[in-house]
Amino acid sequence: MADGIQTGAGNTKWHTSTINKILRNEKYVGDALLQKTYITDFLTKKRIKNNGTVPHYYVEDDHEAIIPKELFMQVQAELVRRRVVHVSPTGRKRGFSCNHCFAQMVFCGECGELYLRVRWNNHGCKSIVWRCISRLEPNSAEMNCTPGRSTSSCCRRSRSRPSIRF
Ligand SMILES: [Zn+2]
Repeated sequence: MADGIQTGAGNTKWHTSTINKILRNEKYVGDALLQKTYITDFLTKKRIKNNGTVPHYYVEDDHEAIIPKELFMQVQAELVRRRVVHVSPTGRKRGFSCNHCFAQMVFCGECGELYLRVRWNNHGCKSIVWRCISRLEPNSAEMNCTPGRSTSSCCRRSRSRPSIRF
């Protein structure tokens, strides 16, 4: 991260997997999943991930929590929601492609497709706009969809359109 905060392993580079591990780590709610990894050779101390080869033990309230369990469960539910692809009325499957808080929550009133957050550069006027996916894909069979874009931040020239601030 730009502010130089280190990961738990002491690295300065934050990967998506780093955040993922934090969001899924039961230690923050006071629980402990034992034997996530195990040693295959006691001489070399080689440690590998336990994919069910040896038993897992889940200990609830093992230590003091720093994250409420309810919040943790909401995060787990959101992670599942983002894995599930949206199926458009025409049967096209869409995956989660943006980490914005409104991604996969805004749908087109005309065709039922997802709205995408896109960067717009209109003659040097840079802005963020939300557009129906079917308007962004030239080969889309749903090109008849006609709603305009929703502007989140734009220069004064485009203020005539309805504006949503995200
Ligand atoms: Zn649409």
